[in-house]
Amino acid sequence: MLTAEEIINYSGEPDLLKDRVILITGAGDGIGKAAAWACAQAGATVILAGRTLAKLEQLYDQIVQAGLIEPLIYPVDLEGATSEDYDQLAVTLDQTFGRLDGLLHNAAILGQRTPLNNYRQDVWDRLLKVNVTAQFQMTQALMPVLEKSNDASVLFTSSGVGKVGRAFWGAYAVSKFAIEGMVQTWGAELDGLGTVRVNAIDPGATRTNMRAQAFPAENPTDLKTPAEIMPAYLYLLGPDSRGVNGRSIKAQNR
Ligand code: NDP
Repeated sequence: MLTAEEIINYSGEPDLLKDRVILITGAGDGIGKAAAWACAQAGATVILAGRTLAKLEQLYDQIVQAGLIEPLIYPVDLEGATSEDYDQLAVTLDQTFGRLDGLLHNAAILGQRTPLNNYRQDVWDRLLKVNVTAQFQMTQALMPVLEKSNDASVLFTSSGVGKVGRAFWGAYAVSKFAIEGMVQTWGAELDGLGTVRVNAIDPGATRTNMRAQAFPAENPTDLKTPAEIMPAYLYLLGPDSRGVNGRSIKAQNR
């Protein structure tokens, strides 16, 4: 495995993800959009999953106009989707591609930045559904098609507040601790068994809408752009990270 510094500065072959089918949630905006674009540029067939169709269509057009492999759009609201919806997705992927090589769980919501004492139950429930339960359900349903790949990478998205608790980060911090736990548990269960690996990536402070919502006083130009943190994503979704499993990896030093 590469060192932390080598992963941050990773540079793969131009066609690193050739012949790979990769599904990305929250692909319409922020880090997910940059990841979808980077994967398409590296030769992957990308499945653009998200809840705002117009954003997904705009990215679809951008990818097609650039002459890259035509992506698929999968409209999904992780808040309302059920296990049956993900079972249906698995059938569609199996019939269309016969396998899935990459799954990037990127979509998440921030919730309230308020003391847990005052945290609203409805926000808590919604956040844990989107940030944890939906990701578990989708991964479980897609495991059979992931197992049909000869090198499948499942990548969950963590955060600094998923490793060290911090005041006022509420359900968001709890959800990211859950992601770290899910990756360790699933990773241990899959270790040495087959071709599916499961890891977490912590993007670090990145210039997106969510970051601006969390830190409204911050100057966004001080932050890395989503495009700048893509090397670690490409490494973890591509063949060079084969054998890396159950790990939590940072995409930048901040
Ligand atoms: P953004 O808010 O910019 O983008 C989040 C994406 O998730 C959007 O495309 C959004 O869709 C989608 N999404 C939200 N809720 C749902 C839902 N119910 N169903 C389907 N899609 C949904 O966030 P970032 O790009 O900043 O964050 C990406 C990931 O990185 C998250 O997991 C976040 O926790 C993590 N992260 C980000 C950091 C940062 O500094 N930016 C730092 C640490 C972790 P829509 O466009 O429709 O709103």
